[in-house]
Amino acid sequence: MTNPVVKCTVDQCTHYMPGDQCMAAKISIYNEETGTSDTSKDTQCKSFHHRKTMGDMLGAFHNANIGGSLSAAFIEGTQITPVVECFVNNCNHWNDNNVCTATNIDVFGENAGKTDDTDCKTFEKKK
Ligand code: SF4
Ligand code: SF4
Repeated sequence: MTNPVVKCTVDQCTHYMPGDQCMAAKISIYNEETGTSDTSKDTQCKSFHHRKTMGDMLGAFHNANIGGSLSAAFIEGTQITPVVECFVNNCNHWNDNNVCTATNIDVFGENAGKTDDTDCKTFEKKK
């Protein structure tokens, strides 16, 4: 199965791990409310979960890429990376069944407080 290696710098997310890794078992990339994306700013990581309280951290463990969940994920070298499903179907890297065909993706969102504040920087609008 095609699956990109995810590099993420959103350190406000409960799934973030030092080394710009995402320890979620699976992430979902969506368009923002506009329904279609012109630039990477219009995309978002819906799996973002703000690291506010300890309760939030515990709540995020259902989607954690640790222990028994590892079978659902990939380990590329030493990089832990989640399964990616993407609904941004006007991206050049998008393929049927919500697959992302990019080799790597970069998820970004400085001081993110909500999913809208995150972006898939690797988005490229289909011509
Ligand atoms: S913002 Fe998305 S890619 Fe980044 S750590 Fe959170 S769930 Fe993973
Ligand atoms: S590069 Fe494109 S297809 Fe891949 S996750 Fe980002 S927006 Fe989706």
